[in-house]
Amino acid sequence: MRLPRFDYLEPENLKGALDLLSTHRDDAKILAGGTDLLVRMKKGLLKPKVLISLKALNELSYINEKNGYIKIGARTPIADIVASGLIKEEAHALFQACEKIGAVTIQHYRGTIGGNILQDNRCHHYNQSEFHRSGHQPCHKDGGKICYAREEADRCNSTCQSDGATALMALDAKITLSKINGERTVDLADFYTTDGIMPFAMESHELLKEIIIPVQIAESAYQRLAYRSAIDYPIVCAGVLLKRSDTQKNEIDDARIVVGAMGRSPLFLAQASFSLKGKKLNDTNAFKKAADASMDNASTFAVHNVGSTLEYRCAMVSQMVFQALKEAAQAAVAAKG
Ligand SMILES: Cc1cc2nc3c(=O)[nH]c(=O)nc-3n(C[C@H](O)[C@H](O)[C@H](O)COP(=O)(O)OP(=O)(O)OC[C@H]3O[C@@H](n4cnc5c(N)ncnc54)[C@H](O)[C@@H]3O)c2cc1C
Ligand code: SF4
Repeated sequence: MRLPRFDYLEPENLKGALDLLSTHRDDAKILAGGTDLLVRMKKGLLKPKVLISLKALNELSYINEKNGYIKIGARTPIADIVASGLIKEEAHALFQACEKIGAVTIQHYRGTIGGNILQDNRCHHYNQSEFHRSGHQPCHKDGGKICYAREEADRCNSTCQSDGATALMALDAKITLSKINGERTVDLADFYTTDGIMPFAMESHELLKEIIIPVQIAESAYQRLAYRSAIDYPIVCAGVLLKRSDTQKNEIDDARIVVGAMGRSPLFLAQASFSLKGKKLNDTNAFKKAADASMDNASTFAVHNVGSTLEYRCAMVSQMVFQALKEAAQAAVAAKG
């Protein structure tokens, strides 16, 4: 498979990159590590005329903590996140998720956290070579009018399989998007559309600049299921955050349960999360009920398009959430002062 022709531009700084994005708009794509983008281009799924590389933008590669927030530059390599003591300590779910992305040799030295959040949604009917796709009618995402993953669907339900985004949503992260004449910060949970063709609520001349995670007195954990522990994308994953009550140290004050690889975006499951408020940190029955509720809720979004059977993936939601909750609760008990 060969790459289609494109112009390669390498701005020296953020302003230069935003200028170029503003000029080329829909004709351009940002190139970070390229581990998602170049694969899609080789498969003929995308043919941008211009690639704007972030290679020289060291200013977008950092991890720091200030005024109660961890800030991560969008071009920060996944490897740096895995190696960061701050992330391991204060945003453990993100550490666990990044540790599992792809494989060390393929991902960690190229893939970035920005590219991980903005990797395209996937579907095994669509993420195939041009030759393979030429054998049947195009689906919605390929410019046609049908969906192979859900027969009656009037839109694309391709799946977000980003490990990083699932963990970050559990950690209640925000992201900052920059454009030539300004920037905006949004909750990651509000950043998604309801269409797998264009899954992100961002404009073509916007650039993801920074990820912001609030530092909380809370414990987080991440679990994922994939065919193989290396290389493969998750077929189900879950990130959770448990906040202890200030007054009743063994009680849960707030919880966030997010399930990934089951829908067009990571799914924040509000009802299941809320059901844990006031429960004891060792109440495994409550964890089981919340995990089963997560399964029921997440199952309504999933379609058969990322391998394995839908029934198995749905059943495993409960397992992933339960394990993550137990792990976060154990960490909270251990950290109790
Ligand atoms: C074999 C293989 C296994 C993989 N396994 C996993 C896995 O287990 N889990 C997982 O989550 N991912 C996986 N991936 C997907 C991908 O490698 C990672 O998500 C990686 O972190 C993407 O980062 P990147 O910098 O290479 O992104 P790129 O490919 O450079 O970019 C991805 C997309 O984001 C856009 N983009 C990137 N940065 C910005 C920015 N700052 N502003 C605006 N747009 C931007 C690009 O234009 C492109 O559309 C896998 C990929 C491969 C090839
Ligand atoms: S979910 Fe349907 S429309 Fe979307 S990529 Fe898959 S087959 Fe195509």
